[in-house]
Amino acid sequence: MDLKAKIRNIEDFPEKGVIFRDITTLIKDPEAFEYVTDTLAERVKGQDIDMIVVLDARGFLFGSPVAYLLRKGIVPVRKKGKLPADVYHVEYQLEYGTGQLEMHKDAVKEGMRIAIFDDLLATGGTAKAACELVELAGAEVVSLNFVIELTDLGGRDALGGYDVFSLVQY
Ligand code: AMP
Repeated sequence: MDLKAKIRNIEDFPEKGVIFRDITTLIKDPEAFEYVTDTLAERVKGQDIDMIVVLDARGFLFGSPVAYLLRKGIVPVRKKGKLPADVYHVEYQLEYGTGQLEMHKDAVKEGMRIAIFDDLLATGGTAKAACELVELAGAEVVSLNFVIELTDLGGRDALGGYDVFSLVQY
């Protein structure tokens, strides 16, 4: 399927010079959403995963239906201050300032095999922080899965050593 035809490109959002890859046009198309979900599920199926970790917020949209198909549980990684119980916390560098992500301490157990999902890989900073959270819990990141990859931003290199997969590259 031509996924690029389903993804809307918005120039200069959220700031000048950025082309925002808008997946809302993809997920409202049932065939495209089914194709993306099935393809991601097929890829993760053979990885002997214990749990699926989904990244705030658009990662929820793609990781959750995959978890349902594979009959796995879902653990959300959220922006600071959203999770109610005890959390692991990591800070990471953004273009301007820092980002902060959290995961419940009791969400994944030591030794679990984890697949992480987000909508888009840019610099890899967000995904790397999510890997740190999973590893703080003593679990293993088996794969990182994205719908979109912006290849010029070097996210794949920043995630060197991890198994990185994306469906569409720009
Ligand atoms: P990064 O941490 O640099 O890999 O950025 C990835 C996160 O930022 C993902 O959660 C994306 O949703 C979001 N993001 C970064 N760049 C874009 C873009 N051009 N279009 C849409 N989302 C983006």
